[in-house]
Amino acid sequence: MFKNFNASCSCGSLGYQFSTAISPIQWQVRKCTCSFCSGHQNHLHVSDSLGQVVFKVSVLAHLVRHRFSTKTADFLMCVNCNSYLGAVMTTPRGSFAVINAEIINLKVKLAEPILVSFDNETTKQRVIRRTQNWTPVLDDKLFF
Ligand SMILES: [Zn+2]
Ligand SMILES: [Zn+2]
Repeated sequence: MFKNFNASCSCGSLGYQFSTAISPIQWQVRKCTCSFCSGHQNHLHVSDSLGQVVFKVSVLAHLVRHRFSTKTADFLMCVNCNSYLGAVMTTPRGSFAVINAEIINLKVKLAEPILVSFDNETTKQRVIRRTQNWTPVLDDKLFF
């Protein structure tokens, strides 16, 4: 059964709804060691390839997308409160996202995060990995 988890940045301008059949205590939590993500010490990346995510934007002016050298994904931030929401990759087959579960108000404790580094991937490997592992974005019109 799918459950919805709602998240919002500290100021409430931006957020997302993550729908998954996996209960939070079983989420595979990852911390990325790249230079952007390690600047957001508390981030907890979570994805479910069988789930769904919808990003919610109340104040579009507060949405900032950071795009790095490989240009394969946008890292979404709120410029007003400096919250990190997650990353989105747009492909011809739709958009896929990894969320920052740190901003979900959960009653349970998540698993200890696994440290991951993808520095040695080629761009092609990166796109394939994300397409297989990241969460499909339901309403992706924001990202086109
Ligand atoms: Zn905010
Ligand atoms: Zn990263």
